[in-house]
Amino acid sequence: MSWEQRLHTALQQRRDQDLWRQRAQLSSVQGTEVTCNGEHRLNFCSNDYLGLAAQGGDDLAAAAQRWQLGSGSSHLVCGHSNAHHALEDALAKLTGYPRAILFSTGYMANLGAISALARRGDLVLQDKLNHASLLDGAVLSRAQLKRYRHADNAHLESLLKGNTNAGETLVVTDTIFSMDGDLADIPTMAELCQKHGALLMADDAHGFGVLGTGGAGARAHFDLTPEQLPVYVGTLGKALGGYGAFVAGSEEMIDYMVQFARSYIYTTALPPALAEGMLGNLERLQNDQLRETLQQRIQQFRTKALALGLPLMDSNSPIQPLMIGSAAKAMALSAALHKQGIWVSAIRPPTVPQNEARLRITLSAAHSEEQIDRLIHALADIWEVMPHEQ
Ligand SMILES: *Cc1c(COP(=O)(O)O)cnc(C)c1O
Repeated sequence: MSWEQRLHTALQQRRDQDLWRQRAQLSSVQGTEVTCNGEHRLNFCSNDYLGLAAQGGDDLAAAAQRWQLGSGSSHLVCGHSNAHHALEDALAKLTGYPRAILFSTGYMANLGAISALARRGDLVLQDKLNHASLLDGAVLSRAQLKRYRHADNAHLESLLKGNTNAGETLVVTDTIFSMDGDLADIPTMAELCQKHGALLMADDAHGFGVLGTGGAGARAHFDLTPEQLPVYVGTLGKALGGYGAFVAGSEEMIDYMVQFARSYIYTTALPPALAEGMLGNLERLQNDQLRETLQQRIQQFRTKALALGLPLMDSNSPIQPLMIGSAAKAMALSAALHKQGIWVSAIRPPTVPQNEARLRITLSAAHSEEQIDRLIHALADIWEVMPHEQ
């Protein structure tokens, strides 16, 4: 097959299977009400769980006055600034770890951390529904990768017991799963890891800012010590409403990342203004009133959706998917909501397993009660004319 044929065939398959992906263009700031492709939409697809993405602009502008645009280099050459360092210190303090190290994105943090920690001869155990970046990190590490059934700690334990690899074992999980919204049982995993001498790493992309007092994340939520959850990844593009990510851990863990995480070493440092500009949102994120409001909106949505008989999933997080099944039906439902000015994305394979296409509704503390009610009414309308399969 020629390259031309390969591209053409792959693209045609995507179209034929209702899996074609498209980018919508925003012309307004991120928020619960956006202008997109020239039309007004009530937005239920963003990861801006606290409504902070539309804040912090003044902080960023002030920081840009001081630092201007570029970092000029990677962290290990001449790109590491006071601004980066101050953000790392603030993140370590908030999440309750001795130290933290900034990465440019969560994707790069996961790729860098896993491929630095694990090597050939090791075993990496991951939840089946872990984020793509975690799986990619394991592939890059050249360790053996095994995936246990979603949230199935008995399966995890049997893989730990049956391990015949000569090397070390790394166990990796999402905290709140990005497409299901449920929360991993991290305390049980921590116990299993301790018992079997494995290292536990948790990706708290959806938990940082959402879980725990002050938004300190999954470690704080479960009241674990840093030793029980030794590798903690948080991202800055979701609840914080910014951009970037970090790994938090012990002094040695972070020293190790500086020395060996290739996606940290071989890339330009974040713009220092961005690092400094996010400190304001880091303060705002710690206001527990935001998490109280978010929980109220989640409970409002779930109570009313349940009363309508909608196929809710087992989630208490801001990620509230409705399980649909076929990709075509999920697309049709998303399109019907779109007609009513409501933006909910249909999540299809390969992001989720075959026949598990869903509407991924995300809620924010910035949504008003009225906005949630509008979503519920629209869902009730379209559900009547388009009952889902089962
Ligand atoms: C979004 C996400 C990432 C990637 O973070 P970015 O900063 O957007 O690259 C990693 N892990 C999980 C679970 C995520 O949801």
